Amino acid sequence: MKPSFQQAFNKALQQEELTQEDLVLLLQAQGEDAQALRNLANEVRHQAVGDVVHLRGIIEFSNYCSQQCHYCGLRAGNTALGRYRLTQEEIMTVAEAAVRRGYKTLVLQSGEDMNFSVEAITELVQELKKMDVAITLSCGERSYQVYEQWRLAGADRYLIKQETSDPILFSRLRPGRTLDERLECQRYLKDLGYQLGSGCMVGLPGQTIATLAQDILLMREMQVNMSGIGPFIPHGQTPLKMASRGSVELTLNMLAAARLVMPWVHLPATTALSTLNPEGRKLALLSGANVIMPNVSPQEFRSLYQIYPDKYCINDPLDDHWEELHNLIHSLGRTVGTDYGHNYFEEAFSYVQSKI
Ligand code: SAH
Ligand code: SF4
Repeated sequence: MKPSFQQAFNKALQQEELTQEDLVLLLQAQGEDAQALRNLANEVRHQAVGDVVHLRGIIEFSNYCSQQCHYCGLRAGNTALGRYRLTQEEIMTVAEAAVRRGYKTLVLQSGEDMNFSVEAITELVQELKKMDVAITLSCGERSYQVYEQWRLAGADRYLIKQETSDPILFSRLRPGRTLDERLECQRYLKDLGYQLGSGCMVGLPGQTIATLAQDILLMREMQVNMSGIGPFIPHGQTPLKMASRGSVELTLNMLAAARLVMPWVHLPATTALSTLNPEGRKLALLSGANVIMPNVSPQEFRSLYQIYPDKYCINDPLDDHWEELHNLIHSLGRTVGTDYGHNYFEEAFSYVQSKI
C-alpha cells in the first residue's frame, strides 16, 4: 500500500472520523489500494445495512424543464429534444405493471416542469399510495408549501441532489440558482419527515478531488438517507459537450468512501455508471452500493429522457431487467428487498453504532 493511503485506510479500518484530507487520499487510490478500499466498504455495507438490495422502479414522467443546467440534456435551451409529458393514465398503467412485477418503491422523476401542476402530482401520489408502495418524488426545487402538500398526500422520499458542494461551481453550472437554496430545499424536506436523497456527479469540469471529498462530508452533515453518486456524462446538446466524462474508477472510490463515512446510507448503483461500464452495477454493489433503480417508464418515451446520451437499459422490457437483476443479485450472495426498504437516519445510525 502507498504509505499516505495506508494511514487514511487504517483510520477507516478503526472507524475513526475521516477528514477531508483523509478522503482525498482514499479517493485517489488505484490498483490494490482501490480494491482494498472497496472491499472494506463492501464489508461495512454488509454490517450496517445487510445483504438486501432494494429495487426502485423509476418513472420519468416529463422531460420538460424550465432550468438551464449546463450538464443536462433536458435543459430548456435544448431545442433539439422532443418533449413529452405523460398523462395520469399513462403513469398509472406503468406503475401498476411495475407493482405487479414486485416493485415496492416507485420513483417519479421529471425536469422542473411547472406545467405539470402541483395538484396533479398530489393526486398521483394519492392514487399510487393505494397500491401499497413507497413513493419517491424527484421534481426539483419547490416551496415548503408544495413539499408539504406532497408529503401530506403520502410521498415518503424526495430525491434532490446537491450536485456539487462547491458553491461557485454550483452556480456556474446551474445558472440563476445557488447551493444554499438547494440545501434549504433539503432542510425543508428533512423537516417534513421525508427520507432525503442527495448525491453528486463525479467528473464535472472544474471539480477537484477535494470538492468530491467535501461532497461526502456535506452529505453526512445533511444526514441524507440516500446518496446517488454517478459519473458525469457529457451531452452533445449542452454547453459541456466538449468536457470529458467522469471516471468509473473514481466513481467506485466515491461510493466506497461514502459508505465508510455514512454507513447507514442507501447507495444506488447508478444508471450513469452502467452506461459507462456494462459491469457497473456489479462493481458498485461490491463497492458499498445496496440499491438499484431500474427504468420502468413506457418504452416509447425512454429515449427522450435524455439527461445524458446512450442511457443504459433504455430498451429493456420490465420482465427482462427484473430477471437479470435477480440473477445478478443472487450471484453475489445477496437478496432482493421485499419490503419498502425505508431508511431512517436516526434508527439506522444507532443500529450501525451497535453493529460495528
Ligand atoms: N430535475 C430534477 C430531477 C431530474 S435530473 C433535478 O434536477 O433535481 C436527475 C439527475 O440527473 C440530476 O440530479 C443530476 O445529478 C443528473 N444528471 C444530469 N445531467 C447529467 C449528466 N450529463 N451526466 C450524469 N448525470 C447527470
Ligand atoms: Fe432540469 Fe434537472 Fe436537468 Fe437541471 S438537471 S436541466 S433541473 S432536469
